[in-house]
Amino acid sequence: MSSTLPFLPFTKPTMDEETISAVADVLRSGWLTSGPNVKELEAKLSAYFGGRPVRTFNSGTCTMEIALRIAGIGEGDEVITTPNSWVATANVIIETGATPVFVDIDAKTHNIDLKKIEAAITPRTKAIIPVHMCGLPCDMDHLYTIAEKYQLRVIEDAAQAIGSTWKGKRIGSFGDFASFSFQVNKNIMTGEGGCLVLNNEEEAKLAEKYRLQGVSRKGLDGIDVDVLGGKYNMTDIAAAIGLGQLKRLEEFNAKRHTLAKHYFASFGAEFETQTGAELPVADFTQSNWHMFHLVLPERVQRADFMQNMLDLGIGLGYHYRAIHLFTLYRERGFTDGMFPIAERVGKQIVTLPLFPSMTENDVERVVSAVKSLLQTN
Ligand SMILES: *Cc1c(COP(=O)(O)O)cnc(C)c1O
Repeated sequence: MSSTLPFLPFTKPTMDEETISAVADVLRSGWLTSGPNVKELEAKLSAYFGGRPVRTFNSGTCTMEIALRIAGIGEGDEVITTPNSWVATANVIIETGATPVFVDIDAKTHNIDLKKIEAAITPRTKAIIPVHMCGLPCDMDHLYTIAEKYQLRVIEDAAQAIGSTWKGKRIGSFGDFASFSFQVNKNIMTGEGGCLVLNNEEEAKLAEKYRLQGVSRKGLDGIDVDVLGGKYNMTDIAAAIGLGQLKRLEEFNAKRHTLAKHYFASFGAEFETQTGAELPVADFTQSNWHMFHLVLPERVQRADFMQNMLDLGIGLGYHYRAIHLFTLYRERGFTDGMFPIAERVGKQIVTLPLFPSMTENDVERVVSAVKSLLQTN
């Protein structure tokens, strides 16, 4: 079985000529590392997040690690997070010397189950890293009530949530730390990159040190190093891409909404009961529709399903396999059965194509392929 239609990937960035020439300008300027474009991108992001301080980095991963360091988290501390995320979310905890503590997810939202967090809190718990999965926000009232009650820092892994809102307020415009990724698959991208929304200028200064060898400068030749930093700064090349993307964020997210709505309409009201597959939460007020997920019924082998879709010219992703079942985490004592919902979802979830330059015809093509495979299964 093969398709004569063009290959449809699960995601693809949108790039315009204006952005390409802005990047070319940077290349011609002689200043390629962090410079005026980084400053401008940080200013625009800060305005976007209601005036809170924002600093950019070369990945969404290091933004979370730096937030943990600013919060003073390390050896002997525990950080609560979700097993259903890109492995970066938990790796950064280990990277600081702290211990990751997983809490299972909610079966519908696929976000960390806030009702189960309190049982995981110990005297050593210092922070929570929740993920707004696919851009569907966690219950922010509930999350921050817990954080306040136990005096915990929150590092929101908002890698997927730029443009998402909670009760009308943008994710990142309120709360504690919010970390965003501009990796090429996200709603806006810089190739690789990320940004951290911070609480005050003091934290922002510390973030600048952690991103560049701990260096602070004064005057023409004044330099000191008083904390151990790394090399995490964003280039002006990347920032120029980010400026072009940020301009179009609302347009991109609006298109994602339209396509996601079309997925629901095309699957139809009977799809779940007829096939046993699970559709995502149909949230069209708060989510930025970073991804559109389908949880396959247990009878379907995901790898076979992905291969059959590939044969029809459609690329799928899977986001994510449960983190605690990776070897690195098993070696730290995690085993099968500890977080059954994340494990089931991790085994059966697929990501359907969804990106701004897709058409409603593409959506219909995906839906009829899915239906034909699930009904003959
Ligand atoms: C993309 C992503 C990250 C990592 O971001 P990078 O920019 O690739 O380092 C972390 N968490 C989640 C939920 C992500 O989607």
